[in-house]
Amino acid sequence: MKRLKRKKHITLMVVPDDTGKVISVKLGARLLLGIFALWCASVLISAFIITRHADYRTRIAYDNYLQQKHKDFAKEMIETRDTVKRVSEIDKQLRDMLSLRSRNAIIKYTGFGGPSYLDTKLLEKSVKDNDEVISRRSFELAVQYVQDQANDSESSFQEIISYITEQRARLTAVPAGWPVKGWITASFGPRIDPFTGSLSYHAGVDIANDIGTPVKATADGVVVTADFEAGGYGNLVVINHGNGYTTKFGHMIKYVVSPGQHIKKGQVVGYLGNTGRSTAPHLHYEVKLNGVAVNPVKYLNKEIALK
Ligand SMILES: [Zn+2]
Repeated sequence: MKRLKRKKHITLMVVPDDTGKVISVKLGARLLLGIFALWCASVLISAFIITRHADYRTRIAYDNYLQQKHKDFAKEMIETRDTVKRVSEIDKQLRDMLSLRSRNAIIKYTGFGGPSYLDTKLLEKSVKDNDEVISRRSFELAVQYVQDQANDSESSFQEIISYITEQRARLTAVPAGWPVKGWITASFGPRIDPFTGSLSYHAGVDIANDIGTPVKATADGVVVTADFEAGGYGNLVVINHGNGYTTKFGHMIKYVVSPGQHIKKGQVVGYLGNTGRSTAPHLHYEVKLNGVAVNPVKYLNKEIALK
């Protein structure tokens, strides 16, 4: 036998506190369940919407933060661009002072080409106009420009350093200054030979002082001779300075260097003496340029004294 489904009802009653009429609503259980389900659903949907809205607000805040970051970065980028530009101007001044070829000329010659200074104006304009959105392209151009300039300056400065080093090496390789303290007793050129009494040619200068006065190299170089010549220079040292220069030190009481030894300007090579074909204590000092003896006096006066 079919069981009859009994419909369940719930009666909601609203009872006012005064003498008003009691309102009663009779609702079916299913309907009530439906209302309850609807209420639950609406609560869930509201919660979802509220959460999404919070998310949205966080996103907006983050976007604003990023936008500000972009602006700050753009500003710093423009400042960096100006710094690298100043550095490259200093580089140019240095090159002009050293009469080196302009870096720009080299760059143009090799066909190197990245973004120019003008290309960075795009970003500069965005910074000036306080643009909300800064284009990626304007960033890329400025970053590339700064990188190129910085790399360029770095290699240029390295080039300048090697140029100065080379120049300094060349300078220290040219004989300058007095090889020994003292006074000139025989000058360069034709003279009456003190031994034979006949006209001869004096290839250097004689500088007199006490025996044992230190004799110093007048430029950086390599010792080619350190030997004793009985009838001539006595204890002799010859130094090759490169660039065609050699110097010769004769009649020393002794020498303290050996052939092949690298010598620094100002380094002691021996001590003043009276050895070989010499009549009184002195140093015979010769300067040769490309194998030809030149007057050492102009080299003596290049510097007041050796270090
Ligand atoms: Zn001499």
